[in-house]
Amino acid sequence: MKLGLHCDVRPGYLHALKTAESLGCEAMQMLPYRRHQIPTEKDFAEFRDAFAASPVERLVIHVRFLPFLASTDRPRHLRSIELLEREIRYAVRLGGEFLIVHMGAYSPGSSLEEGTEIFAAGVVDAWQRAAPERLALVVENVPGGGRRMGGSVEELAGLAARLAEAGIDASLCLDTAHAWAHGEALDSREGMKLWLSKAEGAFGAGRTAIFHLNDSLAVLGSNREHHWHWGRGRLGREGIDALLGREDFAHAVGILEMPPGDDLRNLEWMRERVTALRAARSSRPGR
Ligand SMILES: [Zn+2]
Ligand SMILES: [Zn+2]
Repeated sequence: MKLGLHCDVRPGYLHALKTAESLGCEAMQMLPYRRHQIPTEKDFAEFRDAFAASPVERLVIHVRFLPFLASTDRPRHLRSIELLEREIRYAVRLGGEFLIVHMGAYSPGSSLEEGTEIFAAGVVDAWQRAAPERLALVVENVPGGGRRMGGSVEELAGLAARLAEAGIDASLCLDTAHAWAHGEALDSREGMKLWLSKAEGAFGAGRTAIFHLNDSLAVLGSNREHHWHWGRGRLGREGIDALLGREDFAHAVGILEMPPGDDLRNLEWMRERVTALRAARSSRPGR
């Protein structure tokens, strides 16, 4: 897996890239812009040049929160489409390979089905207006609960099916902390296998482009997001080993989204697991 980090974009695009480089990342993720600051063509060009010369190989852009894209309130829905269109354009100008979106919530009195319909229509609208040529759309699972959509891979597949009708091919980002919050027992080998097989069943094999590899302090099934440092949360080692050990994910991107301050230790924890699993595989008889 190509391992990397979610990098803070507030000090600037180049600073985010330097952070990823200094930690030996093969991939990085960032938001498409700093709040209240309009990036210039010079900012984008500087970043593209620096990234092209960088050892960091994969660039993931994560859309900012779009709480009202599924809203039945038309003005709010339209405003969200404008925001998403702008973020798609920024992602393209940064040279991003992937753009990740969360589904958001359906309106009070609405339904999962209607919310999915409105959200998909909004994505299609923004995508067609921005018309990105080489950007891949990726939908991410969230902690869910209440009216929030996209907690399960089945709900994401419902969205993907609607996008496919408009010719948009969405792949999957699986976040371990979010799935845990949604009730997937990823602290065991069996729990991890079950979740991965559900994802494969809903999206098809080879459709998971990105993993968000996060431990969590939240209670299983609590719908609460509490990303935490590896080895210090509730997920532990057994489940994540079952994910990292899968050879078919060797080319997927794995992004850590942790509270700041312990990035190097978290990355090294993850790299150690990958190395240990690789060693165990190659020492297995008959290989
Ligand atoms: Zn996310
Ligand atoms: Zn995530």
